[in-house]
Amino acid sequence: MKTPAGQECPWFYGNYFRGRDIEECRLLHASGETWTRDLCKTCPVPSIARANSCEFMKLRATVWRPFEALFQRRVQVTAYCEKVHRTVAEPHIGCGECHTLPFKLEVKD
Ligand code: SF4
Repeated sequence: MKTPAGQECPWFYGNYFRGRDIEECRLLHASGETWTRDLCKTCPVPSIARANSCEFMKLRATVWRPFEALFQRRVQVTAYCEKVHRTVAEPHIGCGECHTLPFKLEVKD
């Protein structure tokens, strides 16, 4: 579903049927965080979802404000792979366990 910022996000839920105006972020809701529409503007989750659809990678989102009161609130994402049981350093790429290259590239002098 498209977020208020106009990007597809698998965690956004909006119900506008018959005049309803219910919107929520189910990823932030699962972490006990309070969602507001402005968070979608800078959230990295839609681009992570486009780049990596691994079924084993689970995202966890929290809200933080860089340099308290100076900048607007942002979503911070951590990822965990349930297959290899470790934190994923770069969620856009994944942990590398399932999608290794079938060959090795070597650069010789
Ligand atoms: S805050 Fe991020 S994860 Fe939540 S609905 Fe918006 S874009 Fe999706």
